Amino acid sequence: MQPVFRFAPSPNGHLHLGHAYSALLNERMARESNGRFLLRIEDIDAIRCTDGLIADCMEDLHKLGLCWEAPVLRQSTRLGAYRAEAITLDEKGVLYPCFCTRSAISAVGQGTRDPDGALRYPGICKRLSNDEKAERIAAGEPHALRLDMEAARRITGQVTWREEGGVPAKGFDWGDPVLIRKDIGTSYHLAVVLDDALQGVTHIVRGSDLFAQTSIHRVLQVLCGLDEPEYHHHRLILDEDGNKLAKSAVSTPLRQLWREGWTPQGIRERLGF
Ligand code: GLU
Repeated sequence: MQPVFRFAPSPNGHLHLGHAYSALLNERMARESNGRFLLRIEDIDAIRCTDGLIADCMEDLHKLGLCWEAPVLRQSTRLGAYRAEAITLDEKGVLYPCFCTRSAISAVGQGTRDPDGALRYPGICKRLSNDEKAERIAAGEPHALRLDMEAARRITGQVTWREEGGVPAKGFDWGDPVLIRKDIGTSYHLAVVLDDALQGVTHIVRGSDLFAQTSIHRVLQVLCGLDEPEYHHHRLILDEDGNKLAKSAVSTPLRQLWREGWTPQGIRERLGF
């Protein structure tokens, strides 16, 4: 089977060195394994991901010397498919509506934290009766849909995944993540899992900041009956002080680096390519 790799940015801002590293690594791994290299635009947040940012993103990647297959999948064209899969998951009894606002959740106080450091959802809406849920939905109250991890794990068991070149990674314990957001009708987790499967992605190469989230993705892959890809979570590009890129001086957009006189070759070398 021919390996399939993808670089999947969310163009809600300009690309920086960390994106460049991830894209270059995916392309190199694809080339060295005679695989395919795809670009996917993760633009589910229609307000922040503008056509201008998407065009700039592609221009920066071309400038780095990257080419990818056409057509490029845009997640904003797939909202109906995400919704349809959510209905199927709901029929399996692993979703529940959540009417909570952020402030209602934080008002519950300090509790356990999820692996990403966010306060774990304390299960307020999980405890609502079926009648109350139905009434509030019928009254048009805005709600998200959360994955009931306890119900999901009864089906999937404890998940692991294949991390390239290593022993299977042990799953992390998450609270109930939002699978359908109130505002955009899907979520990163659902969209990424369905699109990797749709596009036949065999190797998911992305930053180690997404390592723990892979647990949620594996649970979804098992629930949706999708093939298991192989994962490689790569190092993050750090500045001289060891800060993660997004919060540091090296989070300067590539576009600004071009303006400051950096050449594509200079950036490739800075990143070890
Ligand atoms: N779109 C995500 C991001 O830009 C990455 C998705 C992934 O590689 O799984 O952070």
